[in-house]
Amino acid sequence: MSNRLYNFCAGPAALPEPVLQRAQADLLDWQGKGLSVMEMSHRSDEFVSIAERAEQDLRDLLTIPSDYKVLFLQGGASQQFAQIPLNLLPEDGSADYIDTGIWSAKAIEEASRYGHVNVAASAKSMDYFAIPGQNDWQLSEKATYVHYTPNETIGGLEFGWIPDVEKPLIADMSSTILSRPLDVSRFGLIYAGAQKNIGPSGLVVVIVQEDLLGNARASCPTMLDYSVAAKNGSMYNTPPTFAWYLSGLIFQWLKEQGGLEGMERVNQAKQRKLYAAIDSSELYSNPINIADRSWMNIPFRLADDRLDKPFLAGAEQRGLLNLKGHRSVGGMRASVYNAVPESAVDALIEYMAEFEKQHG
Ligand SMILES: *Cc1c(COP(=O)(O)O)cnc(C)c1O
Repeated sequence: MSNRLYNFCAGPAALPEPVLQRAQADLLDWQGKGLSVMEMSHRSDEFVSIAERAEQDLRDLLTIPSDYKVLFLQGGASQQFAQIPLNLLPEDGSADYIDTGIWSAKAIEEASRYGHVNVAASAKSMDYFAIPGQNDWQLSEKATYVHYTPNETIGGLEFGWIPDVEKPLIADMSSTILSRPLDVSRFGLIYAGAQKNIGPSGLVVVIVQEDLLGNARASCPTMLDYSVAAKNGSMYNTPPTFAWYLSGLIFQWLKEQGGLEGMERVNQAKQRKLYAAIDSSELYSNPINIADRSWMNIPFRLADDRLDKPFLAGAEQRGLLNLKGHRSVGGMRASVYNAVPESAVDALIEYMAEFEKQHG
């Protein structure tokens, strides 16, 4: 009997229970081979088959065009903040960045160490409560790429549209990838830390158009050169094998859920009902412009922050875990990634209503 509770953690986040059960069954003896995936050579036929299947399933889910490479790398999304300019920004070059919150700010800060960053638009003047419309962006002629953060995990601010730009578009999709179908062909490069919607931490997935490879600076560490990773099937050195394997199980699970169309239906329903509950209450509120609200990360505040502690304590008592908002914004945040079932959202809404009745 498992005693699994509802987990609203922003990351590392909930994983689907059937996937964990499968990993548990495989743990000591993977498919009768007499050893665990963690104990296999990454060059063994067994592991290579696990790795290739994972890549193919991800390609199927996102219908990734054949002229894109899929890389399974380390260092998290944060390492990409440096790896992108090291590979794509010439020493004297310039890149456009869109500032919509804490994660895009980190990407901007890091890229600034490697070249000129033009902040082409910022949500700052709107307190990061709305996405700046593309008509107001000041894109520069000289930019070699345009970087943005489709979903700001901490602020709960999300693009409902894909920017239309002439330069390669680069997106930090850490907390939104696989939440619904995506037109990969609109992007030059997509990256996502695994621990939100892909799998366990220790892995970052990069989907990159082949044309963009081979431009790394001479000073770029070998380990950070995308073309080296691509040439070596993401096995220039030992990759995070267990994280790769577990992500592969998630991709299989996603296919069983009806792929990304299936996930979109569930995720659409989850976010709709949670925002509706927040908006119709007197006690809870979410400040984000309605069209720009995140599906995966839903922050909300209580009218009186002295109620935060009792709210969280009561939630925990009911098995609703990790609802505390990010330390930089306070309040609450419910992360409702793919592996968080609709029943978790229903339980949260029920608790919120009951708490409001008692304290409203
Ligand atoms: C979590 C997150 C990151 C940081 O990911 P790490 O893997 O911890 O480096 C970066 N960007 C976004 C949008 C995130 O949600």
